Amino acid sequence: MTTESFTRGRPLELSDIGSLPAMDVAARADRLRPSFSAAGIDALVVTNPVNIRYLTSFTGSAGVVLVTSEELVLVTDGRYRDQAADQVRAAGVDARVEISSTAQREIITAVLADQARVGLEADHVSWSMQLRYTNEWFPDHTVVPTIALVETLRRSKDAGELARIELAARIADESLDLMRPRLLEEPTEQEFGRELDMTMRSLGATRPSFETIVASGPNGARPHARPSDRVIRVGDLVVLDFGAVVDGYCSDMTRTLAVGEVSATARRMLEVVTTAQAAGVAAIRPGIAARDVDAVCRAVIADAGWADAFSHGTGHGVGLDIHEAPGVGSTSDATLVVGDVVTVEPGVYLPEHGGVRVEDTVVVTTEGCRPLTHSTKDPTPTARPRPA
Ligand code: ZN
Ligand code: ZN
Repeated sequence: MTTESFTRGRPLELSDIGSLPAMDVAARADRLRPSFSAAGIDALVVTNPVNIRYLTSFTGSAGVVLVTSEELVLVTDGRYRDQAADQVRAAGVDARVEISSTAQREIITAVLADQARVGLEADHVSWSMQLRYTNEWFPDHTVVPTIALVETLRRSKDAGELARIELAARIADESLDLMRPRLLEEPTEQEFGRELDMTMRSLGATRPSFETIVASGPNGARPHARPSDRVIRVGDLVVLDFGAVVDGYCSDMTRTLAVGEVSATARRMLEVVTTAQAAGVAAIRPGIAARDVDAVCRAVIADAGWADAFSHGTGHGVGLDIHEAPGVGSTSDATLVVGDVVTVEPGVYLPEHGGVRVEDTVVVTTEGCRPLTHSTKDPTPTARPRPA
């Protein structure tokens, strides 16, 4: 797998959005099948829409994918007849598309009739659906809960996926560059967030990858604050946590900016968190336990006396979902491998002073990692946007 920039050394341009390298969607079912024997299944019923998209490229809101050792079958309804066929064909996926007008059950039970052990995605099937599968649809089969079979595959991004995340990150970088001076004009958090979102869309993002966080002054002390009508003023720290989506793939970045003069404690928070974040990024390499990356960041913050003020995990995987495997926290049992895309985002939150969080998204490479987000960590709104 290549983890180099898809532009091979030339600076990535926003115009690359029209010529993104293909993703190897067709190979994914074959990468999935070897996990069946350890999971104790002969076939998998995929119901998580993100996993369905991953295996087939189908993006409709209703569908089920059946994976047997021989076949890949996408079952959807008449609304998606053309879309399903088009998306599967465009991705070069060897999948049979079945349209169920009413009786999805008949198609699914027919396809899986000879499969003794039918796996369900335990993290995605409701209790009532599990009862229906077990008692009504497959009374003579063994129905087996499976955990994260497709999610585990999704960890290792191919070059096409990396290109999409990298471009999404580039859009976020450019958008922040354009928006930084606006912080000096006393916008409300909501106004700033809306304008940042519009800027990302105007640069080619399908949408923001989650509800943009703009948390100023005391609001910054809440790590997942929603933008309010609070006016951003001189003396505020402002936590900006946001990302863009390109062709389904998310980016994620946080910068904390200081508007005008901020308190000595606020400056110290910026210094400590920036140091902790850089230490976490520097620790990333294939083979390191994700919890050790968390520990590296946590140690820097604890040394500054703020252990209790870093109240969340250090990071998470990013891809088709904004939060996906592997988790990077103190309870994570993941080991990082080449191709993992993860965030490093320590923070310090003090009710009297606000919050500071700094976050980059990086891809794990054979040598260590390569950051995909590049915005300057200089907290001044007028800072030269990015190092030349
Ligand atoms: Zn974030
Ligand atoms: Zn994040």
